Formats: sequence, structure tokens, C-alpha cells
Amino acid sequence: MTDEEKLTQEQTDERLINEAFQELLDRYLASRHRRKVELITKAFNFARQAHKGVRRRSGEPYILHPIAVARIACVEIGLGSTSICAALLHDVVEDTDYTVEDIENLFGPKIAQIVDGLTKISGGIFGDRASAQAENFKKLLLTMNDDIRVILIKIADRLHNMRTLGSMLPSKQYKIAGETLYIYAPLANRLGLNRIKTELEDLSFKYEHPETYQQILEKLKSTQSERENVFEAFTAPIRAQLDKMGLPYKILARVKSPYSIWNKMQTKHITFEEIYDILAVRIIFTPKTEEEELNDCFNIYVAISKIYKPHPDRLRDWVSHPKANGYRALHVTLMSNMGQWIEVQIRSERMNDIAEQGFAAHWKYKAGNYNEEERDGELSKWLRTIKEILDDPQPDALDFLDTIKLNLFASEIFVFTPKGEIKTMPQNCTALDFAFSIHTFLGSHCIGAKVNHKLVPLSHKLQSGDQVEILTSKSQKVQPSWINFATTAKAKAKILAILKREKKELQQQGEDIINDFFQQAHIEQTEEKLQRLCELHNVKDFDELAAAVGQHAFELNDSDLNELKDKPAPTTWKKFFNFGGKPKQEERKQEPEAKLNIDKKKVLKLTPDAIQKNYIIADCCKPIPGDDVLGYIDDNNRIIIHKRQCPIASQLKSSFGNRLLAVQWEIGKALNFPVNVYIQGIDGIGLLNKVTEIISNELSVNIHKLSIEVNDGIFEGRIQLYVHDVDDVNTICNNLKKVEAIKKVTRIEGFDDQIAD
Ligand code: MN
Repeated sequence: MTDEEKLTQEQTDERLINEAFQELLDRYLASRHRRKVELITKAFNFARQAHKGVRRRSGEPYILHPIAVARIACVEIGLGSTSICAALLHDVVEDTDYTVEDIENLFGPKIAQIVDGLTKISGGIFGDRASAQAENFKKLLLTMNDDIRVILIKIADRLHNMRTLGSMLPSKQYKIAGETLYIYAPLANRLGLNRIKTELEDLSFKYEHPETYQQILEKLKSTQSERENVFEAFTAPIRAQLDKMGLPYKILARVKSPYSIWNKMQTKHITFEEIYDILAVRIIFTPKTEEEELNDCFNIYVAISKIYKPHPDRLRDWVSHPKANGYRALHVTLMSNMGQWIEVQIRSERMNDIAEQGFAAHWKYKAGNYNEEERDGELSKWLRTIKEILDDPQPDALDFLDTIKLNLFASEIFVFTPKGEIKTMPQNCTALDFAFSIHTFLGSHCIGAKVNHKLVPLSHKLQSGDQVEILTSKSQKVQPSWINFATTAKAKAKILAILKREKKELQQQGEDIINDFFQQAHIEQTEEKLQRLCELHNVKDFDELAAAVGQHAFELNDSDLNELKDKPAPTTWKKFFNFGGKPKQEERKQEPEAKLNIDKKKVLKLTPDAIQKNYIIADCCKPIPGDDVLGYIDDNNRIIIHKRQCPIASQLKSSFGNRLLAVQWEIGKALNFPVNVYIQGIDGIGLLNKVTEIISNELSVNIHKLSIEVNDGIFEGRIQLYVHDVDDVNTICNNLKKVEAIKKVTRIEGFDDQIAD
């Protein structure tokens, strides 16, 4: 590069940076916030010189990233000058020599505190070292309690990183996309940032399944005019009715996002064409007065349900009972004249802002008063629950993440206490969850419940509107089986903590008994002798021995003594044995460095030879050639191939991101892999014959396993086949679909997987 070219490059950069910053300022000045242009400019200039000369992987000047994050915080989340400054400065402490003290001296304690929070949770929530993940996550959630702006800016940061993910290494992309889907999208959802949640999900989906993403986009495009016609025809009479009511309003078409469409296709095993709710209709109105707002919602509902028949079970009233993230709207499902159900969402303009921008929209409506307190109340209630979970000792880091995650994405129902108090609970929660949500004592001594005055077991699933009375007994204790039907984060965490504490107590008692036993027999307590005892009683290690003895599962007696005197234990036991019974948690959690000679920057080719020698196909999701996959280096230095959407892989992406590898099938038709196919249809003579004929004769694929069930004339078949790749499965499915009596054909993961309706 000549000096002259360098200069031009610098000038181009300068212009780019100045334009980006000016745009940010313009957007800020157009908002309702105070005019703190001077402070924002100061933060910009400081960050600019701190990051000077540094570029992102994409090649653009680094400072463009903080500017973009500040822009998202301002425009898309609706935050003010403090957050904009913090966003501009968010990577300064992390990436340069400046300290939090420097920031504090220049910008005051508030901005410094937010930058500090952001620095602490940087490097992805889980950081690069898996052992730190739970700690970082805890920190993150605790900072939410101090200042919610930390997490809001963190989400803005992640959104910009996702928007620019294309320039990262593929193996990094999976880590970031996976983490985003696993934790950031749920967090955004929980904070009511609906638009950002949707974008995060779509971007993750785009990078993990590029082809499927494109296919769905194309299908959406090719069906667009059809949807427009439906929309016009359906909304015309509604408009006429609303015009009569005299309220200013807008009617919008809401199209389901590609990720939601794909998610529904996956979980319900249906095709794009079978999704009936791709189109929804949104009515956004401006109430005459604030007091009239709720009434107006219901008036519109009454008016439009005179035009179309409403679905009796699908009225969702989030107007009188907002969701915990502040969402308010009235959802109804109406039967159109074309014979399809269409969802209509009725919201005021203010409700719409809150739905799109969530928690942050309340700055915009500071003058208003009607729902601010209530929403803040729900939010702080949720934060309190999180804090309670954090205060309990956590048995396992990954369990902990899953437990917290449970709390982020749950839909809500309303249940009543015996006194008629209303409680918000997650959907699918059980009576046991409800007991723990009221009080730990109630949960841990719960023996059953009365739901609507009828006796039910603890595992009973609650419905919206249920009135629940918890029955307790002082002698009741927490049972290990409870963990199977506790569904809320709080109940699970409490049960695990109580069980862990009880086990510790039992172990302590057991250890005392064992010590006495050795002392009374005048035998020296050695590692070998303890091992021998474990072996005699068929338990894994000293911990279990102590717990079993403490529980009086068996007593140590004379025959034990004889064994201990005569035969010393074989020494091979030693390596499985943990003397003293205290497993070193820290050691277990640490991530061993991968010793394989692998270049993570390259995409590994899955050739027939390599598949047979070096790789293991994950048993949980059983990918075959053509599936979107990734590689994971396990503790024993083996490479496991998972589907990218496998739930196990999602966990790995979030916790062991630096062990991921980008892999690609290069296998042709060289090997056979087992797949399971599910079919459903109307039973009739010769149907089974037809199915087997298509598979074995026409396609000459061998059926490996077959199970058929017929109930009330409905035929259900599960078939295991050996195929080369996804194309083979698709051909088989498409050919089977051509049989008239067959109504559903889909690939399933496990042979016995149940298909939800
Ligand atoms: Mn950043």
C-alpha cells in the first residue's frame, strides 16, 4: 500500500465513522429523551481514540461496532443518553488499556458501573472457559437486579454481532448462534423485546440451517400474494365496522417469522403448507381517552365477532392480565369466509409499543401511569425469583442453566389461591410447582392438592382459571421422584437443594457409623479396606457407601469384618475410588484441552473413511448425510457429530463453544445410515403391502424394523430403514405421500418417538 492509498483508506474510514455517528445523533435527537449531545459526543470521541487502528474481522474500523450497538440501544430499545454512552464505551475496558476508574473519572459513576457490568459478562455469557459459565451467568442475572440497562445493552451488543456474524469462522458461528438461541433470545423475550427476540431467532436459524432458511423464505415469497388476497377479503368488513366506531386505527398483516415456522414444522412434524397460522391480523387503535383503552379493546372484539364466528377456546385476554413481560393485547381467533381460522390481535398504540420494545417502552410513557407500576412489579417479582434460585447452592452448572432457562420462555396461565388471589404461573406447571411458588415450606411438605375442590396428585397439571388449595403434612418430606414433575425453575432448584442437603446429612451420619465400626473392631481404616467394603455392598464409591449406611440400607456386620481381615482389595480399584468421598468439583468442570491435531479454522470433511475411523455419530440425534451438522470434541478427544438443532448440541454450543468444529458431509452414497420414518393414514386392505412395495421394490431399500398399530381405523406405522442420505429419505417420504390413504409421513429421530398433534 502506498502512502497515498493509505490516506484514502483513512479518509474513507473517517467519513464512514462520522456518518455513522451523525446518524446516531440524529436518531437520538428525534427521540423523546433529554438533549445530552455533548456527553454522547464526548463518549464517542473517547471510544474512537481508544479503539483507534483496530479493525473487526470484517475489516471495518472497530468503532463502528460500538456506534451500531448504541444505535440499537437508542432506536430499537428506546434507551437514553446514559445507555448510549455506556454502549459507545462498552468494549473500551475489555479491549484497551483503559480502566473502569478512567471511565468513572470522565463520565461519572453510573456510566462506569454499566460499563463494568458489561465488561464482567463479556466474551459471551459463558466466556471461553466452560468452568466459568455458571458464574458468568449468575453475574449477569445479578447485574440485572442492579441495573437492567446492563442486560439491555448486552442484548444490543449481541444483536449487532449476530447481524455481522457472516465474517466469523463457521465453528465460531455455531457457538454464537447456539448461545443466542439458547439464552439471549429467551432473555429478550422475557424482557418483552419481541422484535429483537424474533430477529435473534431468525439470524441464529439462518446461520445454522442456511438452506432450510432460504427454502422457507422462498415459500413465504411464493405464497405472499395469496396471503394478501386473504388479508384483503378478511379485513374489508372489519374496516367497515371499525370506521363506524370512529376510532383511529391501523390494520396490519403479521406474518410468522421463518424461525417460528421452522420450529412449528419440527415440533409438530408438519409441512410448511400445513401451518394454518402463518398470517395473523393486527388491529392497532388509538383510544379517545386513556380510561377508555381497555373498554375499546373489548368493544372492537364484540364488533368483529359479529362479522366472523370466534373460536370458543381461543380468546386470550392479556388486557386485564398482562403477561409477566408486560405484554398486553386481546387475541381472538375467527373463522373466515374461506373456512380458515385467523387470529386477530387487538392492541392500543401504547400496548403495541410495549409489545415491540418491551420494558424499555415505559420510558416513552413516563407520563402515563396505568400499567407502569404493574409491569415493573411483575419484572421485579421475576428478578426476585431468579435471586432466590441464585441464593441456593446449585448442584450442577448445566442443570442450573436449564432450570433458569425454564423461566425465560414459558407461556403463562392464571390460577387462584383458595382466597381468590390471582397468581401467574408458567404453562404446564403442576400442583407441586404452585406449592413451591407460594412458599418453600408448603412445597416441601406438600402431599396433594385440591383443584377446583377436587383431590388431585402433586403431579397434576394446572389450567388457567383453576383454584388450587395445597394440602400439607408435617411428616411429609421432599421425594427424589418429585424432580420429574416439577417444571418451574424455582421448584426444581428448591427440590435439588433440599435433596442435596439431606444426602449430605445422611453421608455424615454414615461416615460416623463407619468410623465407629472400624474403631470397635480395632481395624485400621485404610483406603483398601474402604474399597473392599464398597465392593462387598455393591456401591460405586465411598460417598454412596456412607449415604447407604447413613440411610440404614444395610448394616455393617461380622461378615464384613471377616472379609476385611482376610482379603485385601485388588489394587485396580484404586483409580475409581475417591478417598474421603469428596469429589473435586473444580477438577471435573475444567475443560481439558483438545489434543487432537485439528485446525478449527477449517471445515472438516466427513469422508466415508473418516466417518468409519475418526468420528462418532451422536446417538441422541442420529444425523445422516445431508443433515445440518457440527462436530464436538468430547472429553476423550473424540469427535462427535450432532445435528445442529439437537438439544444436546445446543447445550454444548452454549457451554463448550470452543470445542465446536465446522464439519461438512463429503460422503456421497458410500455408506448406509439408519433412519426412522413415521406414517399415519386411513387403514384399508393392502395398505401395508403398498407401503412395503414402495420401499423395497420401487426404491430397493431394505426395511430393518417395522411396527404397525391400527386404532379405530387409523393406521400408524413406524419403519426403520437404511439409507444413504437425506435425499433418500425425502424420496421415500414423497413416494409414500402419493398413496391416497396415507395422510402423514415424517422422519422421526427415535423409532418410538411420539408425534404430537
Ligand atoms: Mn461488543
